Amino acid sequence: MTQRTGLDLAARLADADPEIARLIEAEGRRQFEKIRLIPSENYVSQAVLEATGTVLTNKYSEGYARKRYYEGQQIIDEVEELAVARAKELFGVEHANVQPYSGSPANLAIYLAFMQPGDTVMGMSLPMGGHLTHGWSVSATGKWFRSVQYSVGRETGRVDLDEVREIARAERPKLIFCGGTAIPRLIDFEGYAEIAREVDALLVADIAHIAGLIAGGAHPSPVGHAPVISTTTHKTLRGPRGAMLMSDQEHAKPLDRAVFPGLQGGPHNHTTAAIAVALKEAATQEFTAYAGQIVENAKALATALIERGFDLVSGGTDNHLILVDLTNKDVGGKPAAKALDRAGIELNYNTVPYDTRKPFDPSGIRIGTPAVTTRGLTPAHMAQIAAWMDEAVEAGKKDDGEALDRIAADVRDFTKAFPIPGWPAS
Ligand SMILES: *Cc1c(COP(=O)(O)O)cnc(C)c1O
Repeated sequence: MTQRTGLDLAARLADADPEIARLIEAEGRRQFEKIRLIPSENYVSQAVLEATGTVLTNKYSEGYARKRYYEGQQIIDEVEELAVARAKELFGVEHANVQPYSGSPANLAIYLAFMQPGDTVMGMSLPMGGHLTHGWSVSATGKWFRSVQYSVGRETGRVDLDEVREIARAERPKLIFCGGTAIPRLIDFEGYAEIAREVDALLVADIAHIAGLIAGGAHPSPVGHAPVISTTTHKTLRGPRGAMLMSDQEHAKPLDRAVFPGLQGGPHNHTTAAIAVALKEAATQEFTAYAGQIVENAKALATALIERGFDLVSGGTDNHLILVDLTNKDVGGKPAAKALDRAGIELNYNTVPYDTRKPFDPSGIRIGTPAVTTRGLTPAHMAQIAAWMDEAVEAGKKDDGEALDRIAADVRDFTKAFPIPGWPAS
């Protein structure tokens, strides 16, 4: 009889840790059975999943390719160089850094590279659709820097570049962020660039939400307008959780130094490999079609929602994202989101511009089509989703749990026809 001592390192997860294995399995089922409309989420490919779960996680690689502080980088250098080359090619940029751990640290690196504490940053305010890291008060970026924020028009729900210009002229920010988390319309990078030039500010395009649309030609690119570009890799770009910073040559060195050694230690090499895989996928014809389909689906869903009396901020969408103001439906965003989740439709409650309710109990919900488009849903399916949403919101108002469960059963039945990569686990 062989006496096993210590851990069996060759054991599969299901044997080594049945509790976690069971939870991962359950999360896979949840992702399979629901209609996932959170606009910052997606389903990555089997190839991206595989690259993420590899021995590359074992390696320390502080520094950059060919300039490392640890030995044994023969292979990792090639992995990172591939990721960088693919990012440069895909987005048409002079420089790319694929090491930021996620979108927020990537943005912090931009501050470290180009700002001193107390300098002025300008970004879209969070409740209007910006991101925490664009200078919002509770974020380090709003505490350590002087922050001025712009809004969207009360009537239009869109950024008013005249207002942006006015604030920029008065406040003279050193850094201007464009982009955000709840912007249903195209971003006029050229317009922002003019303003930045006029006030001698550095323009940063944060394309976290729309990177996949840009790569696929479904949204204009900031390249040539914003010298520094920040993006996550896990939203429309459909890669692993991670981020990239891209720039022209002039801003390359300060950015690299800010990421390492300024903010981070060793890069997550398994993530770098998975980013490389996602970038390869994003350079295909299929991905271009995917990006176009995301927008087609969002427009179809917007139309179907409007037909059912939903009030969309800015009246619709140009991209992957829809912001719904539920005020006219007489229900808050949070109770609606909870009812919808029970009905199998996953989304998030969100502030709407000029919200009269509290941030933790706001008036809106935010939805998007990147994940359902990955599963193969088309505009033809969007009327059905809008119908379920309408029913669920009304059922939620009446606290009709039975109706919500009935919708969830229909949704489960519907999603069976649309497999997801990685589940059931192979
Ligand atoms: C998601 C997002 C981020 C932050 O990304 P994390 O990976 O969640 O830190 C930054 N900026 C914008 C515009 C985003 O949408």
